[in-house]
Amino acid sequence: PPDSEQLGRATWTFLHTMAAYYPEVPSSEQQINMRNLLSGFSQFYPCWYCAEHLREEMKKVPPKVESRWALGIWLCDMHNIVNERLGKPIFDCNKINERWKDGPKN
Ligand code: FAD
Repeated sequence: PPDSEQLGRATWTFLHTMAAYYPEVPSSEQQINMRNLLSGFSQFYPCWYCAEHLREEMKKVPPKVESRWALGIWLCDMHNIVNERLGKPIFDCNKINERWKDGPKN
């Protein structure tokens, strides 16, 4: 795509925010739907080499959909794998709520 950086930022914003508002205790149907969403996402993300990398990582570490916390950490770890590959700073996964849900503590 013409601007894969902007696409990436927008997509991470969507994914992390979705994880932050995923149910704390998801039903089995919600867990199945989230697994399917992520699987479809990794098939159709419109940056083919990004999607290919993601599918490889998801094969090694399948999505954890059993709780909000588990999903948030899994996604944070996936993002950090990309960060590492691109030489970007590693994000502290204890800060996902502060960044993506609650805002900074005062
Ligand atoms: P981004 O990485 O887009 O991050 C946005 C914000 O998220 C950051 O400012 C930070 O506040 C927060 N953040 C950072 N790390 C984490 C974390 N681990 N957990 C939670 N929040 C975090 N680009 C490539 O060139 N090659 C690739 O192979 C590639 N693969 C990608 C795969 C996926 C699934 C996605 C969504 C994007 C991919 N990208 C890839 C794009 C790349 O990850 C960045 O989005 C893009 O380079 C813009 O980077 P950025 O510095 O603006 O911050």
